[in-house]
This record gives sequence, C-alpha cells and structure tokens, in this order.
Amino acid sequence: MKEIVLIKLGEIALKGLNRHTFEAALKKNIKSTLYGLGYFKVSIAQSTIYVTPQSEVDMDEVCDRISRVFGIVSFSRACVCEKSMDSIFANAPDYLREELQYAKTFKVEAKRSDKKFPLTSPEISREVGGLLLENFPHLTVDVHNPDVKVVVEVRDFGAYIRAGALKGAGGIPVGTGGNAAILISGGIDSPVAAYMLAKRGVSLTAIHFASPPYTSERAEDKVQRLLMKVCRYAGPITMVTVPFTAIQERIKDECPEELFTIIMRRMMMKISCEIAKKYECSALITGESLGQVASQTISAIVCTDDAADMPVFRPLIGMDKEEIIQISRKIDTFDISIEPYEDCCTVFTPKHPRTRPVLKFVRYAEEDAKLYDLIDEAIENVKITQLR
Ligand code: ATP
Ligand code: MG
Repeated sequence: MKEIVLIKLGEIALKGLNRHTFEAALKKNIKSTLYGLGYFKVSIAQSTIYVTPQSEVDMDEVCDRISRVFGIVSFSRACVCEKSMDSIFANAPDYLREELQYAKTFKVEAKRSDKKFPLTSPEISREVGGLLLENFPHLTVDVHNPDVKVVVEVRDFGAYIRAGALKGAGGIPVGTGGNAAILISGGIDSPVAAYMLAKRGVSLTAIHFASPPYTSERAEDKVQRLLMKVCRYAGPITMVTVPFTAIQERIKDECPEELFTIIMRRMMMKISCEIAKKYECSALITGESLGQVASQTISAIVCTDDAADMPVFRPLIGMDKEEIIQISRKIDTFDISIEPYEDCCTVFTPKHPRTRPVLKFVRYAEEDAKLYDLIDEAIENVKITQLR
C-alpha cells in the first residue's frame, strides 16, 4: 500500500502574485526538513502539496518533521489508490483499520475534483460508508460529530483515502520574510523570540556574547543545543559567538555601577548591528519583555535602542513569563534553558541597576569608558558555527 502526505497551504494561498515565491520556498523547506529520511518527490497541484516517498521511509518521522514547517495549516497521511471504486474498495478497510477499530462513530466525506469520475461525491461517500460498516460492524454513522472522519478525494492524478488531518505549524514559510539576527542567550526567552520571528517567514542568524572565563564552554554548548531546537522550525542557522570579556571588564572598571547593565546592552546592540549587516540581516531580535528586569523598562529600552541603527524586534514585549514558558515547552527548549550555566548578563550585575536611566548620562558614561576600540576587536575575533 502506497502512502503519501497531503499538505494544505496556509496564509500563503492568499498571497496573490507572491504566491509562487511562497510555494517555492515552502517546497524547498519541506525537502530540506526531510533531508536524510529517504527520497521524496514534492509537487504542488490544486493548492495541495504532495509529498511522495520514492523509497522506504519512516512516515511517523516524516510527519513529525512536517509538523514544524511554517506555512502549513494542516496535513494528512493518505493512501494512494487508482481512480476507480475497485481500487478504493480494495484499500480502504486495511488502511483505515487502525483508526476505525477503536472508534465508535464515523462518517465518510468525498471530494471529487475530477468531474469525469463516474460517481458523484455523495455516491462515493455512500458506497465507501457501506463498505466500512460491513467491515467494522461495531461502528455507527454520525454525520455531525464523528470520532473519525474518513475523507476520500478523487483528484487529477489519483484517488486518496485518509482519516482526518493533523494541525500544521501555521505561519509563513521561512525565507520569504527577509533576514534578521537573533541575540541569543541561554535563557528561556530568546529561543522563543527566535521561533516567533521564524514563524513569520524570517531567516535567522544568531549572535551570542560569551565572556570566558566568567562564562563556561558549557554555557556556549547550551546555546548551540537551544539553537538546534530552533533550527527544527527555522532551518539552518549561522551562530556568531562574540568574545565579550574585555568589554565587560572595561565597563566594570570605568562606568558607574548602576549603569553597568544598560551600557553592556548598548554594546551588545552596536556589535550586533555590525555583525547583522555583514550577514545581510536588516533587523535585530531580542527576547525582552516589558518590565521583566531593570533593563527592560521603557526608559531602559529607549537607551538600548539608541545604540542600534536598525529596527529591533521584541516579539515577547507584551507577554507574561508563563505565556513564554508555554511556548518554550512546545518548542522543546524549556528543559535546556533551565540548565544552570552563567550568562554574560549575570557577570558583574550591579546591586541597584538604574531602572530609569537617562540617555544623555548613559552616553556620557559610555564615551568616558572609551569602549570603541574594543568593539572592533570583538568583531574581528568572532567564532562562526553552522547549525542545522
Ligand atoms: P533570556 O531568557 O532570553 O536570557 P532574559 O529575560 O534573561 O532573557 P536578559 O538577560 O536581560 O533577559 O536579556 C534580554 C535579551 O538580551 C535576551 O532575550 C537576548 O535577546 C539578549 N541577550 C542576553 N544575553 C545575551 C547573550 N549572552 N548573548 C546574546 N544576546 C543576549
Ligand atoms: Mg538572560
């Protein structure tokens, strides 16, 4: 019995003239997510993507991976039949056995886009329904609220039998929304922020600031593992690790203690903007959420944004921690995020950070610390890691 995956497109079906670009990106992303699982033909017809295995494959794993590709509303596994009632009858009972044997009620819905097929949709439904009742006598038909909805589709190239549909990841295909750089720490928030922008079609580059020996290699390894979880949704990510120790030490030696964090964050922004441009990114992304810590008040964000010369997206800005945690559990980053390794942000944290810093004074303090030569040095010494 031959099985394929039928994919229904999401918002992209509505995108008018851009539709072909979106469809091409989605096809590419589907192929890339299935890499290593076998050979597949991925084609589009009648606003459905067909993923047809050309070799033995693990269909559970195929569906698991497809469930994380953005741009898909729903998808289903389906049995491929020839376009005849004989073939549909020969396959339906066996193919649906697993679903139907534990169900109490079912209904059959037929869709016939090939109008030359000799039976109408209601006729197909009636015939297949009758066959299933013969084979599974414990079942009854419930057209309003069935346990299992069996769908028989007669399309251009074949007939397909499936039981229900699975929910897709939603969003729009990665690669159609431009490039942005995610500032990634080892915390809970930034991986979620990365996921949210990838969901809106953005391709990601990741920037991580490390301050050895205050932060350990294990902290960097943790960030890589987090990004690899994000890659399952966002596709391949280039990770740029910036040596940040010298800058943090200079800030500690030269700046007023209550401004340490805000000046450090401004340095992160300046360096990130330069790196972002090198990687053709036109915006930064952070995991900040309003009021969560001293550096995330509106006044602090005014000071941070002033150091950036490109838009800074903060998709979590209005979310509560609980809501963020819920997403981090869904994308499977939570357990890694709570591993206890130091982030550079927790090095030299002031006892009483200024929650309402005044931009003018922050700039003065920063100029006095003569940090700019260190910025160039940090950018020259980044480490690049390719993640997929
Ligand atoms: P997170 O859970 O993402 O670490 P947080 O609530 O702990 O966030 P902060 O530590 O103040 O908040 O960091 C705010 C944002 O700054 C992070 O979401 C991330 O985007 C960025 N950031 C923090 N530390 C780093 C780092 N070491 N490297 C790169 N970006 C960082
Ligand atoms: Mg943090």
